[in-house]
Amino acid sequence: MKNAPLGYECPFCGIAEALPSPAPESAVVLVDANVFAFVPLHHYAGIKGNCLVVPRRHYENVLDIPDNLGSDFFRATRRLANAMRSAFQCEGISTRQHNGPAGDQDVWHFHLHVFPRYSNDGLHAGQKVLYTTEERVEVATSLRAALR
Ligand SMILES: [Zn+2]
Repeated sequence: MKNAPLGYECPFCGIAEALPSPAPESAVVLVDANVFAFVPLHHYAGIKGNCLVVPRRHYENVLDIPDNLGSDFFRATRRLANAMRSAFQCEGISTRQHNGPAGDQDVWHFHLHVFPRYSNDGLHAGQKVLYTTEERVEVATSLRAALR
């Protein structure tokens, strides 16, 4: 299942290449040996504080991810979940992950969405909305400070 066009300029590899010293506007929250996390360009349903967990190497989708990276994703997700609870006092956490055009994937580098959740927040029905750069940097700063 390969969907990236020939010559695809991967935006997530662009961030990964700058690690461990990403540009502030990349809104990187955590950097691990094999994965990193950042505040993406969009939030959903007005729920701010979401992150993407991304492998530092390029893998297009879940079919390509090596098995041994599984624990890296869970570790980063759990650390982000704790940081979101601490930074934003969210009541719950959700994750979602899309593969292929039929699965609504729109960046051809594997990414796991992690969302702070609140009662009746309407995440699943909500609109995808652009963050301002300032909002993303502020969210990332809050989460970095809350990481343990
Ligand atoms: Zn990539």
